Amino acid sequence: MKTMQAARLTETGSPLEIVDLPIPQPGPGEILVRVRAAGICSSDLHYRDGRSRVTRVPITLGHEISGEVAECGKNVKGLKRGDRVSLFYLVTCGKCMMCCTGKDNYCPEAKMLGKNIDGGFAEYVTVPARNAFPFPEAIPFSQAALIADAVATPFHALKRASVQTGENVLIIGIGGLGLHAVQIARIMGAGRVIAMDLADDKLELALRVGATAVINPQRDNAADKIATLTGGGGVDIAVELIGLGGTIRQAIEYTGPGGRTVVVGICPEEIGLNPYHDLLLKERTIMGSADQCRADFPVIIEMAAQGRLDLSHSVSLELPLAEINRGLEMLEKKDRDPVRVVVSFP
Ligand SMILES: [Zn+2]
Ligand SMILES: [Zn+2]
Repeated sequence: MKTMQAARLTETGSPLEIVDLPIPQPGPGEILVRVRAAGICSSDLHYRDGRSRVTRVPITLGHEISGEVAECGKNVKGLKRGDRVSLFYLVTCGKCMMCCTGKDNYCPEAKMLGKNIDGGFAEYVTVPARNAFPFPEAIPFSQAALIADAVATPFHALKRASVQTGENVLIIGIGGLGLHAVQIARIMGAGRVIAMDLADDKLELALRVGATAVINPQRDNAADKIATLTGGGGVDIAVELIGLGGTIRQAIEYTGPGGRTVVVGICPEEIGLNPYHDLLLKERTIMGSADQCRADFPVIIEMAAQGRLDLSHSVSLELPLAEINRGLEMLEKKDRDPVRVVVSFP
């Protein structure tokens, strides 16, 4: 039996273990993907530490995956061996009302790669063929991996907010997702894109990819600066990517009349809401955005292939699978403050 290496969570709270496993076989309608790159996401830290629960241990983590089709199971059409693919991380039924109406992130059968089923921190992974989206050679594997989460998640959030031409957008948190949120807001037609973060190097990067202004709340009075930039009105859209009660409150307060706040950061605490002040008075909307949809992938891939979406600043470091725990630690300790650390397979 042929085997492969995989980085598995065998016990909550412990480092991942590199183990040998049989190479999985693709069933009907499935493909075997030779993983070429898998991004390390802060959710992986949550799964490792038990702040967010995986369904079982041991499990192979990794949900931001790109690779090459290695084998097609029966009845797979439209894909062939060698195709370069980015993987949608939710394995859904493809038939229910949610799946059929473009809300496949709410399929009741959905299982997430690297959380509910084995993911991409391994040399091979099997997925239904409909989870694979081909991309051209112009996009390197390490960048294509990020499409599956670090790009698709903010894309989905900004689509939820329905950015209108010329609207002012505030992005709070310029990490792996925020850097892409800035660019996507520009592409969607935002007027001003204001990036807010505590790290100056991240703000520098945000300016390089198209932010029109930056705010470091340690130095700037954020409320004053936003008022100045927007003529006193506040932003039209605020996207919160951190998941802290304080920054979600700020996001709401910095939106003006008709403003929309999109909460993407995971915050399980109560944050308090004054319906009159926070909602009615300025006809504000507060919405959530979870994961992404299959439909987001072809659009993002086309934007990256055309060079409209610049992913060249997004991969801070590539590591071999054997060093995955070092990558997780870097993310945890903000060591060299990476945008994304990616596990690469030669
Ligand atoms: Zn993630
Ligand atoms: Zn479904």
